[in-house]
Amino acid sequence: MLGKHAGKRLIQWLLFGTAVFFSLLPDADAVPGIWFGDFAAYHNNLSHSIAASLFAAIVGAWLVRAVFGAPYVRCLVFVLLCCVTHILMDYLTVGRGVMLFWPVTSTRFQAPIKLFFGLDWSQGWRATVHFYTGANEMALIGIGWLVYRSTSKGRSAS
Ligand SMILES: [Zn+2]
Repeated sequence: MLGKHAGKRLIQWLLFGTAVFFSLLPDADAVPGIWFGDFAAYHNNLSHSIAASLFAAIVGAWLVRAVFGAPYVRCLVFVLLCCVTHILMDYLTVGRGVMLFWPVTSTRFQAPIKLFFGLDWSQGWRATVHFYTGANEMALIGIGWLVYRSTSKGRSAS
C-alpha cells in the first residue's frame, strides 16, 4: 500500500494527467484529419465550440467523478474549464479562428489581437517557421513563470 505522501503525489499526477487529457480533447479531431489525409476538413471545427465543450464536460465529469470522487458539479466545471481554455487559446492564435457558437452558426471567430503564433500544419514537420511557434510559446511560458515566481515568493517557506 502507498504511504500518505506517495498517495497524494499519485492523485496530483493523476489530476494533472486528467487536466492535460481534457485540455487536448478538442484537438482529437486531428485524428480523422490525419487518417483521411484532409486536415482542414476535420481539424479545428465543431469540437472547438462551447456546445461541444459542454457535451464533453457533461460526459467527462462522470468519468472524473468516478476516479476522484469529487462532487459532479465540481468535476463538470473542471472539464469545462479544460476544454474552454483550449478554445480560448485557439481563439487567440493566428489562423482561421474557432467555430465558437456551433451549431447555432458555423461562423469562425478570432481575437483581434493574437497571443500565439500557432502551428502551421501545412508547412510540414521540418519547416523553419515552427521555430517562431516554439519561440513564441517559450516566451509566453517564460512570462507565466516570471509572474508565478513574483507572486508566490515566500509562500513555500510557510
Ligand atoms: Zn485546438
